[in-house]
Amino acid sequence: MLVIDPGHGGRETGAIGKKGKEKDINLAVAKLFGQYVADEHPDVKIVYTRTKDVAVGLDERANIANKANANLFVSIHANSIKGKSAISGAEVFTFGVTRIEENLEVAKMENSVILYEDNYEQKYEGFDPNSAESYIIFEFMVNLYSEQSNNFASMVQKELVKTAGRKNRGVKQAGFLVLRKSSMPSVLIELDFISNQIAENYMLSQTGQRSMARAIGNAFTNYKNEFDRKEKRTATESAAAQQPEETQDNDKQERQISQNTLEPEVKTASATVVYKIQILASIKKLPTNSRELKGYKADYYVEGKYFKYTYGESQNFNEINELRKKIVKDFKDAFIITFENGVKIPNK
Ligand SMILES: [Zn+2]
Repeated sequence: MLVIDPGHGGRETGAIGKKGKEKDINLAVAKLFGQYVADEHPDVKIVYTRTKDVAVGLDERANIANKANANLFVSIHANSIKGKSAISGAEVFTFGVTRIEENLEVAKMENSVILYEDNYEQKYEGFDPNSAESYIIFEFMVNLYSEQSNNFASMVQKELVKTAGRKNRGVKQAGFLVLRKSSMPSVLIELDFISNQIAENYMLSQTGQRSMARAIGNAFTNYKNEFDRKEKRTATESAAAQQPEETQDNDKQERQISQNTLEPEVKTASATVVYKIQILASIKKLPTNSRELKGYKADYYVEGKYFKYTYGESQNFNEINELRKKIVKDFKDAFIITFENGVKIPNK
């Protein structure tokens, strides 16, 4: 189950270029992307948060995905930056904490659409999309799907460069409300900058829209294939473990596996590097409200006889390093550690 979310709509236009509006580009690319998936993966159910030029609230978009029990949420947007018409390129976001001003600005811009919604103060519990302080609460939230989200985001980013010829601005993290509220792997794609004339022309052209949709479609195929491979391996392994002599039911097993396609259970992603900050080690397991953790929402892993506590995670070294600088006042010995596919490896 795939949920495709064309950003903005109706009176809420999103960014505006010289010739076009973000909401129209998002919808066109979203529909083409959905068409590719429907053609190539008829087994995948697709739900759109909108198929027309109508406004849909951010929390409503996430609700649609949550209610549908979606396995992947793809939000499609176009970027814009005031007074810097030379900047262009694609970037794909996953939900996360950022200390990078530039990324925060993108999240602020996209989140500020809630100001168009009725009762936004109540709905978003006083969240002010334009105040940097509002984003601090995100630091204490655990994102269960960050690894899968980042994995898919990397695939999309790679394809937007390879297939659609976009400049590579990388995979990034920031506090997007629409991603925050969706409980499945989810990404927000900024196709390119509508504030750049060449990029705007490209995004308004049919060729451009098709190429970008093709790119996201290819990424989806890669993600799905990787997923199916893992499902198959997991299923084969567990079947082998349970019934070492049973072999005649292979057909049935194959069928079951393909039906289980895209279930979110499989967590390991190939060659995914994640950085975390180790804040302390303890010989005994600490309660979550332990004073030693100083109110930080920490994770832990076990190494030797120690429980080693970590804070934050990112695929971006600079981002985690910025976070480390910030928490060093509370944990003066905090240092960065690296995990590859969930296994700790020496820092590079
Ligand atoms: Zn947008």
